[in-house]
Amino acid sequence: MAMGIILKHKLLSNQVPDDHKAPLEGWISVKAKKTIKKNRELREEFGGVIPDQLSREDFEKYQLFRVREQMKYAEENVPYYRNKFKDAGIRPEDIRTYDDLTKIPLTEPKDLAESSMLFYGVSTTKMLREFTTTGTTGHRKSIGFTMNDLLSKIDIISSALKGVGMKKSDSLHVMFPMVIAWDPSIMLVTACNILGYGSSVCSDVSIEEQIKTIKEAGSTYIIGLPSFIYRVTTLMEKGIDLKSLGIKKIISTSEPLSESRRHILEEAWGCKVIDVWGMTEFGLACAIECDEQNGLHTDEANMLLEVIDPETGEHVPAGQKGELVVTGLNSEGTVLIRYRTRDIVALLDPPCPCGMHYNKRLVKPSGRLDLQTKVGMGYKVYPVLFDEAIFIDPVVLDYVLYISKEGYKDILTFEIETKNPSEDLEKRIVDSVSSIMEISDGIQDDLIAIPRVKFVSSESDEYKVKAKKIVDLRENFD
Ligand SMILES: [Zn+2]
Repeated sequence: MAMGIILKHKLLSNQVPDDHKAPLEGWISVKAKKTIKKNRELREEFGGVIPDQLSREDFEKYQLFRVREQMKYAEENVPYYRNKFKDAGIRPEDIRTYDDLTKIPLTEPKDLAESSMLFYGVSTTKMLREFTTTGTTGHRKSIGFTMNDLLSKIDIISSALKGVGMKKSDSLHVMFPMVIAWDPSIMLVTACNILGYGSSVCSDVSIEEQIKTIKEAGSTYIIGLPSFIYRVTTLMEKGIDLKSLGIKKIISTSEPLSESRRHILEEAWGCKVIDVWGMTEFGLACAIECDEQNGLHTDEANMLLEVIDPETGEHVPAGQKGELVVTGLNSEGTVLIRYRTRDIVALLDPPCPCGMHYNKRLVKPSGRLDLQTKVGMGYKVYPVLFDEAIFIDPVVLDYVLYISKEGYKDILTFEIETKNPSEDLEKRIVDSVSSIMEISDGIQDDLIAIPRVKFVSSESDEYKVKAKKIVDLRENFD
């Protein structure tokens, strides 16, 4: 396979030691050092000597250098930024410190949705793949990736698989219940091939087929959608001891993973469940948890992350929540500089007990600004908040929340899909939901009624992605 040969030579993940415990840091370090070596301007900032062990400060020099380079590239090749920078009177050389970044105007997701082509750094003929995403808000965005963009992604995925502990004797089972446009399966299988790991893919929604494939392939790691893995787990648990399959780790991706769901999966399979975060705009695989399960290690070699106050646009201090803003550092296809993600996150400063000493950790998105719903006159709620409170027992398969109004009070009705409805379960769910801070405050202020539970039996074992987790039936609401 020609592709395989090219990749083996080009990939930096091959230079990362096999026993590197901290995911991504080895790869990030190799990438930054290679860049310092290649560029005189940056080398001079280090007094001509490449440090053996990079500090956070050293690493930020690399990142700011890449921001300037990406801005130069955008001025020359990307129509959207050529005009934007000119209008703002900003030049690449103005960016010398982290605080200088706020001089660069923010890029709104709606601009990308309205005119995706203006963000292309190369002509469409040079794009190896283009993906469209409707996202959660319904705007269609078209994101282009060149050969180098895709190689870099496969590289980071390989490095992450090494980082979670995979060895040549292991096999990865890829468990997406449908063919997704981006087709992460291809990327994952390619990464496994390069590293000499086994892999299996099963997109069948049948639970029996999934388990059969895992057994036949001798899978030791699983990656997939948490809602799908959860469904297989809860429906299968009685028929088979999932622990006997010998899965070492489950990697949850493409959807938010609530702690309650994580707990149920870990109990059932007898292994750790590791969370991954990504965005289509930046090639999906962007951050991964270490065994500490306290924040996700981000691919800071390819992305510069900022957290801002969404109202004022100012940086918020480390550990504080705000909107995530991302700048691609090495993109050729779609170029995004200070892109507003609408995700609410926090960034934790290094070090991490796993051994990562300069990589910042992302506290996973706690909600999207555009998915927020207000209840009880101003308490902001979003789906992830309820996931935590509702997936408290494996008999809960899924749910939809309907919000209606009676008089001035908001009525929250949770339609719970289960095969084992009981009064006890109803009580536990009502208690659990009522203890969410936003809801308990609303109940105390008499603006939200005690939540209601309605059980529905699952029509079939078939897995469906719910279009909407929260359905708002109120006519006028703030
Ligand atoms: Zn860590």
